[in-house]
Amino acid sequence: MIVINADRRPTGEGWRNESAMTDLTPFKPYFLGPKSENEAWVRGQLQSVLDDWFDWRKSLFGDDPAAISGADQAEPRFLGEQLRLRERLAELVEQLRGEVPTYPPRYMGHMVSELALPALLGHFAALLHNPNNSSKEASKVGTVIETEAVAMLAEMIGFDPNAARGHFTSGGTVANLEAVWRARYRMDHRLALGLCLAEELGRPLDVFAAAHMTARRYRSLIAEFGVSEAALRARSLVLGNPFAAAERIGRCSGRPYRGPVLIAPGHKHYSWVKAANVFGLGEEAFWTAPVDVEGRLCVAGLAARIEEARGQGRPVLMVVSVAGSTEMGEIDPIDAVADHLAALETGEELDIWHHVDAAYGGCFCALGPHEPLLKPARRRALHAVRRADTVTIDPHKLAYAPYACGALLVRDADHDTISSFAAPYVERAELGPAPWTTTLEGSRPATGAAATWLVGKTLGFGPEGLGAVLRSTIEACGAIREALTEGVPLLRPLDPTDTNIFCFSIAEDGEALSLANARTAAVQARIAASPDFSMSRTVLSALACPDLIDGHVASYRGRRDVDHLVLVRCVVMNPFWADPGVRARLTPELVQALRQFVAETAAATTTTYRSRSPA
Ligand SMILES: *Cc1c(COP(=O)(O)O)cnc(C)c1O
Repeated sequence: MIVINADRRPTGEGWRNESAMTDLTPFKPYFLGPKSENEAWVRGQLQSVLDDWFDWRKSLFGDDPAAISGADQAEPRFLGEQLRLRERLAELVEQLRGEVPTYPPRYMGHMVSELALPALLGHFAALLHNPNNSSKEASKVGTVIETEAVAMLAEMIGFDPNAARGHFTSGGTVANLEAVWRARYRMDHRLALGLCLAEELGRPLDVFAAAHMTARRYRSLIAEFGVSEAALRARSLVLGNPFAAAERIGRCSGRPYRGPVLIAPGHKHYSWVKAANVFGLGEEAFWTAPVDVEGRLCVAGLAARIEEARGQGRPVLMVVSVAGSTEMGEIDPIDAVADHLAALETGEELDIWHHVDAAYGGCFCALGPHEPLLKPARRRALHAVRRADTVTIDPHKLAYAPYACGALLVRDADHDTISSFAAPYVERAELGPAPWTTTLEGSRPATGAAATWLVGKTLGFGPEGLGAVLRSTIEACGAIREALTEGVPLLRPLDPTDTNIFCFSIAEDGEALSLANARTAAVQARIAASPDFSMSRTVLSALACPDLIDGHVASYRGRRDVDHLVLVRCVVMNPFWADPGVRARLTPELVQALRQFVAETAAATTTTYRSRSPA
């Protein structure tokens, strides 16, 4: 039996005691249920939304003529077309029955699960009206709902909901890109000013200092020297030719300008590489900060990378920390990152953009600052999300909303301006700035906003609402982890488990990592081939997190002969794991299934290895 290192376990240990686990009863109205238990109620709600939509259309423009008559509808061709449509619809619906069932507790593969009913109903209601949130003209209500939903998310993470800005996106990837867009705009203004002062007044140009000057300093220099908008535009790397501007920066600073870098932790989501690529930075400009032995961003390492950039005369476009890493659901020490950046600001007047990628874990802020199930360091980190300049959060992950529902939250209006030196374009003065001027996407639905809004208005984004549901998933994850660790031979849990994702490998005591990787991959392949349970596979690279891998391999006295660690990953998002009946039935079945897969693959893996190995 493998005993989990006691001090690595979340502090609550609630799952050891069934009665201490979160009671799901108050939340059962919020999900359909694995057996469509709430079918009758949901049917009634969907029907009433449809009825209202039909009625709405009938109620408007009462004197307009109808366009489809009873006689039209009785036409054989009409009926024939309807029949064809009905048949193809049936075909589509039939095909969709082959879709991955992500709603049952058995599904622990990726960051998706049972949908919350308020999210589904809100999405459905907005879908029927089909507003386009790119403009207030095309979306009179949808844009208001969006503003309110953004304020709800802002409040959850601790931004001042009255000052915060933001909008819904198709997902975290776009929200991350949008954060880069804003940070890049601000940096461009600072650099243009620095270059202007250098060229026109002969002031020395320190690229790093200029790019990171505070807003206060930026405004006071503009006022002091009466710098015009035209003078800045003429030196913009965004509006002008970036290569020409870079040449001028190089001339004034005394060394070639190599452009900014973007620093994110080694376990970052691949959306960050895409961002570096899309913004034309070159993937070389994407720097990783080291992670510590438990796989979280190492602040000393981050500080060293910032200094490295400074030494090379390259500004830091932004620093990214992660709340809820995609692989392991881990939470970076966001508070310590914020402390370090705040120290640079007070000590040296250097303002570096801090973005928190909380696409997955942002909703854990709903647990509140006192949640005993989280370790104090993780609580402090979540509490510091509010100190970021921008935050990505995906309601289509832990707010149980349908796709495509991501969001970018921006601290305040100052951080929300993008891509233009002039005042934001105003489509009609009385409507305020058009949403599309601040979004990368053009036409956007109101569905995600409506889904989030209805979750906020019902379940709520506090510790008694979504927070309690998420608490139950963390407990369930702990319970599953414990059951598997105790019940499945050779299963090696990866530490730590900050939230509701847990990873493991399969390894014999003392064996080489290459062999353990083969075993783990073989077991995951069995899981994938079996219809019973879904878990995903992830591979950690020793380049990104060497100490984490070493620590894991040491836990079974193994030998690290290769530079990657293959893991099985369980995302325990499904709320029904908190139901004692579900747990009592499915946990032993899960343990049994894995025991069997491990046993089947153990023999095969060992034989293959022996026959290939000369020793
Ligand atoms: C999921 C995720 C993303 C990307 O979000 P999408 O909604 O898939 O575009 C980015 N960062 C992290 C940490 C994520 O978990």
